[in-house]
Amino acid sequence: MSEPLGLFGGTFDPVHFGHLRLAEEAIGQLGLGGVCWIPAGHPPHRGPPQVTAEQRLAMVRQATAGNPRFSIDPGEVEASAPSYTVHTLERLRGELGAGQSLVLLVGADAFAGLTTWHRWAELFALAHIAISHRPGFPVEAASLPPELASQFKTRQVSDMAQLKSAPAGRIATFAMTQLAISATQIRKLLSNGLSARYLLPDSVLDYIDLHQLYRNRL
Ligand code: ATP
Repeated sequence: MSEPLGLFGGTFDPVHFGHLRLAEEAIGQLGLGGVCWIPAGHPPHRGPPQVTAEQRLAMVRQATAGNPRFSIDPGEVEASAPSYTVHTLERLRGELGAGQSLVLLVGADAFAGLTTWHRWAELFALAHIAISHRPGFPVEAASLPPELASQFKTRQVSDMAQLKSAPAGRIATFAMTQLAISATQIRKLLSNGLSARYLLPDSVLDYIDLHQLYRNRL
């Protein structure tokens, strides 16, 4: 069986070093063949993003350029319908085949809200889930809604080889370098005319400057 493929969805408004370290460390810690980035087109869970979906996609392209283990799936940005992860996973499962191990990468905050996702319980039939630690968000069953806590307890594995021996259905956690960076913080800095340098790649900041994004808006 080929190496598991990581799938990393997010609003990436904008993409930052917290995202990049999550994807990079997931490859090493989970034994992934690579990570496919999936920028959300029309995120159903939050207010409208600050910039267009195409601009967020362009920033992810800038940030991931030059890393041969990173790829991008623009499917959600190009679709006119709302972005539901379950639909994207169904599509990718169809494209990649039933035997390919897929690992959905999520931060601890995103996982804690999983039960609000469309058809969330079906995600486990389509992919494994790997949860990264994030400052301020504990990864423990006690802090999850009961129905998610029970899935967490039943499916959790500590041996990452288990992500390779089945195509879907297991849950792993991994302790990435803790970076208390958020896109919200970056948008605030930029809208206040402050520097966001060293929180995200220079190439992304150059794109933001060129297109005058995140100015005077929160
Ligand atoms: P916002 O502040 O706008 O909510 P964000 O910084 O949380 O954005 P998203 O695009 O919403 O970024 O996150 C995509 C994924 O990356 C989510 O699963 C989230 O948990 C994870 N993530 C984002 N920032 C970090 C970080 N600093 N450390 C670990 N995981 C992170």
